[in-house]
Amino acid sequence: MKNNIKNKRGKNNIKIILILILSISIILMILLYKKFKENKSNIEETFSNNNYIEKNNVIEVVLPNKKKIEDWKLVLVNKENPLPENFTIELENIDSTKQFDKRAIGELKQMIQEMKKSGVNNIWVQSAYRSTEYQKTLYDNKINDYLSKGATIEEAEILTSEYINKPGESEHNLGLAVDFNNVDNDFENTKAYTWLNENAKNYGFIMRYPEEKSEITGVEYEPWHWRYVGKEHSYKMEELNMCLEEYIEFLETN
Ligand SMILES: [Zn+2]
Repeated sequence: MKNNIKNKRGKNNIKIILILILSISIILMILLYKKFKENKSNIEETFSNNNYIEKNNVIEVVLPNKKKIEDWKLVLVNKENPLPENFTIELENIDSTKQFDKRAIGELKQMIQEMKKSGVNNIWVQSAYRSTEYQKTLYDNKINDYLSKGATIEEAEILTSEYINKPGESEHNLGLAVDFNNVDNDFENTKAYTWLNENAKNYGFIMRYPEEKSEITGVEYEPWHWRYVGKEHSYKMEELNMCLEEYIEFLETN
């Protein structure tokens, strides 16, 4: 009799445990299903918010339209972004042979003046604005030089590109870049370089091709090449530790 009661109780306990396990499983399944549905609608939303192209069965997501940056101080010139052929600019003289964008020359002159006042006298502008036509002459001369030495046109182009940008692909064509002194890596050991590193931002200038960003800029370290972007941007770029390519991308997507 006692044993029978024990057995009954045991069976009841097992039933209760089984019911509990079943209930928990059902609840878990409902929760998992809900989560799955949520994820699916998130993915669908991502696709409906973006344009996507299907090419050769591969779906490529295109980010929503980027903001267009209209600021003249931030025009990006590099191998992927040449200046348009009809690009025009108003220039003003730095000295008898060199010119700079009229809108930024005041800050350039002031920067050089302040640098000299602080005791840095060994500083001069080696190169500033170059017209696209002049750039073309430089480029073609170098190509012809290599061709006359027996290089093929492909070889001549590769060799030339190590030294001279194609016309329209140099920041000097924009009128907002200067090269200082001997256009040499030794410039980084000068007082002028130390001064520029600390103070150029106060005049809206940035070192355009830092060593640690060369993979992004596509240009090797050039301590002598400084680009005008305006104070509001030079401060922000330093704060964000971004080169111009990164900074423009940042402005376009934020
Ligand atoms: Zn330069």
